[in-house]
Amino acid sequence: MTASTVLLVEDNEDHWTIYRVLLEYVGYQVLLAGEGYEALRKAREEKPHIILMDISIPGIDGWEVTRILKADPDTASIPIVALTAHASEAARKRCEEVGCDGYLAKPVEPRRVLAEVERFIGMPTAGGG
Ligand code: MN
Repeated sequence: MTASTVLLVEDNEDHWTIYRVLLEYVGYQVLLAGEGYEALRKAREEKPHIILMDISIPGIDGWEVTRILKADPDTASIPIVALTAHASEAARKRCEEVGCDGYLAKPVEPRRVLAEVERFIGMPTAGGG
């Protein structure tokens, strides 16, 4: 059995570090992508169990990455939770429209990130991989 894998899409190194340390501490395996094309590639190649998607990232933005992944039968079933500083009703609606499964407005408390990951994929499964 492989470990529960989270693809963390985030271009801010401080946020990267905080969420990665937290998720790894709990036992998830974390993959990182710092921009949109890398996020697309890693989602397709690694098929993570869930994606935490920053919206403002270099390359193509998180809305577009989400739209593309949700339009592809190979990746459509991967839950995507938007992590964004665009904390408005319009931004939330746009996340819904492109297919995000969840939405967290920054700044996000680390325990809320964990709770959201757990809500979609449960606690990490044992086993390296
Ligand atoms: Mn960002």
